[in-house]
Amino acid sequence: MSAGPPVAFYVHVPFCLSICPYCDFAVVAGRAARRDAGRVAAFVAAVRTELDLRADGLDRAYPAGRPALQSVYLGGGTPSLLAPAEVAGLLDHVARRFGIAAAAEITLEVNPGRADRGDLRGFHAAGIDRLSLGVQSLHAGDLRALGRRHTPSDVVDAVSEARAAGFGSVNMDLLYDVPGQSLASWRSTLDAALALEPEHVSAYALSLDDPDAEGLTGPFGDHLPLRRGARAWRDRARGSQDQDRAAEQYEAASDRLAGAGLRRYELSNWARPEHESRHDLAYWHRDPVEALGPGAHAFDGDSVRRWNAAPLEPYLAALSPSDGRPAGLPPGGEERLDPDEARAEAAILGLRLPEGLDQALLVDPALEPGLRWGLATGLLVDSQGRLRLTPRGRLLGSELFMRLLPAPAADPGGQARRGTATLIAAEIMI
Ligand code: SF4
Repeated sequence: MSAGPPVAFYVHVPFCLSICPYCDFAVVAGRAARRDAGRVAAFVAAVRTELDLRADGLDRAYPAGRPALQSVYLGGGTPSLLAPAEVAGLLDHVARRFGIAAAAEITLEVNPGRADRGDLRGFHAAGIDRLSLGVQSLHAGDLRALGRRHTPSDVVDAVSEARAAGFGSVNMDLLYDVPGQSLASWRSTLDAALALEPEHVSAYALSLDDPDAEGLTGPFGDHLPLRRGARAWRDRARGSQDQDRAAEQYEAASDRLAGAGLRRYELSNWARPEHESRHDLAYWHRDPVEALGPGAHAFDGDSVRRWNAAPLEPYLAALSPSDGRPAGLPPGGEERLDPDEARAEAAILGLRLPEGLDQALLVDPALEPGLRWGLATGLLVDSQGRLRLTPRGRLLGSELFMRLLPAPAADPGGQARRGTATLIAAEIMI
């Protein structure tokens, strides 16, 4: 592990037409997300200023030059609310200041609704070569339960438009352990998704955290406070989640997706050959990642993770000051992992991948007790010099991951912020 210049680049676009009650991202909706309100244009201008400021800092840190980016990912939020000309301008700016490798993967997240998915032909012409669709479900009842704006037929239309626009790489994000979702309705979602022949599928259990209780909100936090309605929805939804059903749903996904020729290349991600997400692999391999926009997280590839605060208006005020001051970097924070935390994080991320970990880590004093526990309980198998999750380990991985983390340090200031390794483990639902 060593720090280096970024090889992957993320931009968080913080607008949606409405807010889903389970949403954990830094997002504003309503008037702020409407083009005529001016916040979208203000954001695009601000993020381009942030891009220059971050690039200036990297130019100073790496005067001999930096490698071209291997991936660019416009996520959110709903980045498909941007106009193709804004996306093209942003990509051009990234290319000028960071360089984009000829074979780089360039992804845009798209919501499937007619009003959200934007001009897919225009995005393709702007240089996007991969779409990630926020499908979540192809069951109308599940979509209503999740507060989503789109219908299953919107998904069919979005995929058809994507193909007509020339996209040869389409991901579908799916959610299970949704309130009211049966094993049968989840299977029907998987079948309907596979009928649309995506090249990549991500399937995650619905996660219902409380960012306020976890100390992630506030002026420098990377999450926005929960609204009262969303808190009530989550309290109700938690009551109808079921770990045993979630385990069956995960196994159903594994069977169906493998049967359709998609290989599991990460615990919750499946792809056809050559369509694995290079951007997400950069996170799992702990490569250096640059990240712009409210709530976005960057990583130096070794031990430093920094984030921008989630609130939009302070982000805009810092980058586009109205009082004549020069633009400055937005508010945010930084976390420095100690060597034990960094090794634990690398081990957890490595175990999420099919290649697993080098068996030599069994002599690492910080990791050995957890890894031996995993072997003794049958969650891990040791074969051909590698430690890998077993099928049971894939279901109960979080039990093992928590044991790999260093004991939590005292929090003298009472300003508890989850360490990243803890956060990663806590967000693993199965
Ligand atoms: S569409 Fe996605 S980003 Fe937007 S509110 Fe819903 S979950 Fe959040």
